[in-house]
Amino acid sequence: MQVGLKQITAIAVLCLAVIVSMVTGRSFMSMWERDKIVPGPGVTKIKMLSEYFPALEGSAGDTAVYFLEGSEPGGTVSVMGGTHADEPSGWMSAILIVENAVVKKGRLIVVPQCNQSGFTHSYPQEAYPQRIDIATPHGVRSFRFGSRTANPIHFWPDPEVYVHYPSGQNLSGDEVRNLNRAYPGRPLGSFAERVAFGIKAVLLSEKVDLNVDLHEAPPEYPFINAIGAHERGKEIATLVAMELQAEKISIGLELSPPRFHGLTYRELGDFTPAICLLMETANPIQGRLRGVTDQELALQGQDDFYVQAARLGRTFVPFDLNGWPLRIRVGRHLSALLKIWTVFSDLNQDKAFVAENIPSLDELREKGIGYFLKAPP
Ligand SMILES: [Zn+2]
Repeated sequence: MQVGLKQITAIAVLCLAVIVSMVTGRSFMSMWERDKIVPGPGVTKIKMLSEYFPALEGSAGDTAVYFLEGSEPGGTVSVMGGTHADEPSGWMSAILIVENAVVKKGRLIVVPQCNQSGFTHSYPQEAYPQRIDIATPHGVRSFRFGSRTANPIHFWPDPEVYVHYPSGQNLSGDEVRNLNRAYPGRPLGSFAERVAFGIKAVLLSEKVDLNVDLHEAPPEYPFINAIGAHERGKEIATLVAMELQAEKISIGLELSPPRFHGLTYRELGDFTPAICLLMETANPIQGRLRGVTDQELALQGQDDFYVQAARLGRTFVPFDLNGWPLRIRVGRHLSALLKIWTVFSDLNQDKAFVAENIPSLDELREKGIGYFLKAPP
């Protein structure tokens, strides 16, 4: 058989397809390697979520649970980051706590990457960067910039309609992979429901008194730069918002809507004894009005389209040329957390909690995030 032009073209196209698949496949699979988090001086033990719910062992839903325990007895508080892996101020705040905080009184439990599966892929058609790189005095630390939902390779296919358990609430099918619609979870449920069940088990078995879940939202969303509270957290949230406002940190306040189900500050408040709060900062890379979408936007949060949108009154936060850099958003979360713990301790003196060495908004504004990250492992 003579090899003609058609055969040569077919072989060339096939080879090209194999090369492209290898390059993109390697890039895709590189997201499966977990981020390195360096336990700081305050970490007293590290457990895995599967120790609370063994069915998660070896799965993409398993994730590290860090304990920082003080020498004096007190309350047990927890912090959740990475429920949504494309909201970096949440998980970066949790990582800075793990790498820096020292607890004096009580116990602190931190889950920096609640939805590990969400970190293994990027949201389709959003042009998100795969990673964000942060310079530290010791070298660059690289972190995955993931997706709002779990990876379809870990749960597929999505149903037409996602029916929340146990409320029966109906949501669009892809919300079945959204961890923050899956609480309280169930052991034989969807991927997200199983992770949610594991996290609820942590709160129950460790007798957590106060849980705070850290999030971000686009500047055009109304629930932003805000603290949300379960009914039992109303008093703390109100006092914290007032104190932050007095310090010129503008923050809104919202009660968890009783009929909107699946969220941490609704279901973990209803199904565990913990007081549950949720916080949001302004993240332009998630928004519909953004321009160029790259690592710069993820880190600096500056966008000319949002400046214009704010001028036209289309955003729920002020947005000038300074934008909302990640260090400011992380600083807001950490300063608010410190305030939450102080107010909680004032109201519950038998369960007081005191932690030190957590970077504040002013420190992060001045020194940046990298200053507070440990040397690359
Ligand atoms: Zn979120």
